[in-house]
Amino acid sequence: MIHIRSKREIELIRNSCKIVVEAFEIVRDMIRPGVETGVIDKEVEKYITSKGARPAFKGYNGFPASSCISVEDEVVHGIPGKRILREGEIVSVDIGVECEGFFGDSANTYAVGEISPEKKRLMKVTLNALNEGVKQAKAGKRLSDISNTIQNIVEGAGFSVVRDLVGHGIGRKLHEDPQIPNYGAPNSGPRLRPGMVLAIEPMVNLGTHKVNTRSDNWTVITKDGLPSAHFEHTAVITQDWPDILTTIVN
Ligand code: MG
Ligand code: MG
Repeated sequence: MIHIRSKREIELIRNSCKIVVEAFEIVRDMIRPGVETGVIDKEVEKYITSKGARPAFKGYNGFPASSCISVEDEVVHGIPGKRILREGEIVSVDIGVECEGFFGDSANTYAVGEISPEKKRLMKVTLNALNEGVKQAKAGKRLSDISNTIQNIVEGAGFSVVRDLVGHGIGRKLHEDPQIPNYGAPNSGPRLRPGMVLAIEPMVNLGTHKVNTRSDNWTVITKDGLPSAHFEHTAVITQDWPDILTTIVN
């Protein structure tokens, strides 16, 4: 069942999203060669708790950290720790916040120092796919119009969309109905209605769409070892332009 959120509920989700975005301002300023991913995670946690909120990922199905930090061929769900960022890598950071019982969720991918033109293009195409997908998130459209737009942009650029992981509804839980694949034929699935809140999040691989999970049981990696990018917005369906509750912090 896809929830229709009241104005008050949307304001609470907006507040959680605001904390997510503020945490990303800290992340952005920390991304550089030589920094440990675990150090970034600690700052994210410190900031979120300082706002009287809770890092939504910590403890989620046993996840051990406050953010997911996924470097290079790591697609999503990377566990922050001793890994040190190196010049030329790309790193995706995913942050969720719960405040007063409502959730916000966003992801950004960053360049560590100077990166190759190919990785730059991967990031640009992924962000563009997100932005164009979000534009489909309006009343009267159907869910797969978002999916199809994302897939067309990504595959049109010669990259691939991850199929094993999807976007999601969000609100009183981090993950609610509906699941939002980043691929599929247009004009199918539920009709979008004002008050639905969606986390739209293309995960885009430079090579194959196929992925594996590492033995830590969390980190999703590309099967061919090529890099992957990830951007995510939380957005509310309205009658026309979606109300995008998160901001890309780059
Ligand atoms: Mg999400
Ligand atoms: Mg996320």
